[in-house]
Amino acid sequence: QGTIIVLARVASLGEEYVLILADDRTEITRTEEIRNDFVANVSHELKTPVGAISLLAEALDDAAEDQEAVRRFARRMHKESARLSALVQDIIELSRLQGADVVRRGRPVNINTVIAEAVDRNRLPAESKQIDIVVGGRINEPVYGDPDLLMTAFRNLIDNAIRYSPERTRVGVGLRSRDGLAEISVTDQGIGITAEEQERVFERFYRIDAARSRQTGGTGLGLSIVKHVVSNHGGEVTVWSQNGQGSTFTVRLPEMEPDADTSPDDKPGG
Ligand code: ADP
Repeated sequence: QGTIIVLARVASLGEEYVLILADDRTEITRTEEIRNDFVANVSHELKTPVGAISLLAEALDDAAEDQEAVRRFARRMHKESARLSALVQDIIELSRLQGADVVRRGRPVNINTVIAEAVDRNRLPAESKQIDIVVGGRINEPVYGDPDLLMTAFRNLIDNAIRYSPERTRVGVGLRSRDGLAEISVTDQGIGITAEEQERVFERFYRIDAARSRQTGGTGLGLSIVKHVVSNHGGEVTVWSQNGQGSTFTVRLPEMEPDADTSPDDKPGG
């Protein structure tokens, strides 16, 4: 187990065969460890809302005469099931992203449009906290990829910027094209992230303050989804932050060659 045996016939050696024994146990063990960790984390995360819902159902049964308590328990059940559903959705998304060839239905994507839509979908939570989302700049060339996945990534970043910021602050989304890269940054005036935590926030289920994250509807998977989407598109995501002074998440994606598919020669029949 963990050993790969390759029987190869090397052309230059004529009829001679070479037996290659490669021991990649470390690699296999590491992958297994990561998978086991993931399964353990998923089980743990799912148990919390499921357990809460079942306890609440019992309490609801006992409190039948107390209308106020019934309403309270029902509200909490609703919240826990919403959490469960967000969690399941994120887990499915993440496992889909870990499969090969995610961007198989790739096409030229206009990032400006994707950002506008991602902002739009965060309109309600932003308004409820009186947070202004200000978009500036422009991406000049399309990015080759999957518009739905890219949208999910930017929606997650903007969603975080709103959730980890106090009311009446501002979220900035900056767009610019530089050195063949589309550079998109999401800046907030929120609680910030310390240097040590910056290295960990992209890990699955890592949360700086689990209670706060749960309370605001977080699953702990948002940033790992962002990271997977971005790396699937050949890009990178980085974070800059000072504790208590807000954060900036920057995504860099390779732009398509200018005019690559608009040059007249490429157009069949003109
Ligand atoms: P969650 O669903 O908990 O938000 P994420 O993977 O999106 O999970 O983020 C991981 C953790 O990183 C969060 O729980 C939070 O502690 C921290 N975090 C993410 N975005 C921000 C931000 N804009 N400002 C401050 N902290 C953040």
